[in-house]
Amino acid sequence: MITQACPSGLVLELRPLRGSSIIALSRSSSAQRDDHFAPIFSEVFSRCLDPGPYPFVAEGDARPPWDRILKGDMLSMLFAVRRISLPRGEHYDFPVRCEGCGKRYDWQINIETDLPPQPLPEASREAIRNGRPLSAVLSDGTCVSYHLGTFARDKLMREKMKGEKRGDDHPTLVDTNYAQVVAIDDATDQRKIWRRLNDMTMPQLVELRQTMDANDCGVETLIATRHDRCGWEQERDLPLDPRTFLAAPSGGRKPAATSSSSTETASTEPSDSTEMDESNTP
Ligand SMILES: [Zn+2]
Repeated sequence: MITQACPSGLVLELRPLRGSSIIALSRSSSAQRDDHFAPIFSEVFSRCLDPGPYPFVAEGDARPPWDRILKGDMLSMLFAVRRISLPRGEHYDFPVRCEGCGKRYDWQINIETDLPPQPLPEASREAIRNGRPLSAVLSDGTCVSYHLGTFARDKLMREKMKGEKRGDDHPTLVDTNYAQVVAIDDATDQRKIWRRLNDMTMPQLVELRQTMDANDCGVETLIATRHDRCGWEQERDLPLDPRTFLAAPSGGRKPAATSSSSTETASTEPSDSTEMDESNTP
């Protein structure tokens, strides 16, 4: 059992994954979608010690409505679950396909120290307390009101994508902005907002996205990696496939220690010299 202080100020007591959580995760598809982790949050939740800014969360053992909790908090919970459920869970290895030479290599990060959380700014905390959207004025004078990212907002976006006869696994910048925006200048109707977003230039869409992200909380998941053999450097988004991110380490490499002590000297250096041997099946 651990106490997890989320970036918004929400504090929860969490327990490790159980067999039933693993089964719930195995039903998820392999697509990288945040809400595929949704089934496990209720399984690992023990109780709420501090509701933080959420007026709809209570102290005690009542489950928070996960789809209304900020995605930044959910991601920090997910990392905490990995840390307490897996041996050396703070270390996360994932394969990277080198864009320079085409070979695969292994990259390792320490999710405790390499991914610093971004705390929720006070103005955003206040907005959540009052159940109000945030407002911003873009550099061209456009006024935008928006909510911060939640699974509930994502659901609206996916419904829109399905309504447009598009697959809902690869949202564009227009879609992710649509998920959160509730007004653009005097347009508050969802159809008008959609049209306004479609008419925006790419720099406007990027500025809007960056403005909303700057006022949100979360964890930076863009990782800089380097292939030692050829020297190619590239950035990639942390892979969060539910079936591998929370899976027990597979054979091949033994964990160096099971201690989670912060004084542990196990290497946090990326194991970038390790070539993946794809023919090596145990
Ligand atoms: Zn390479």
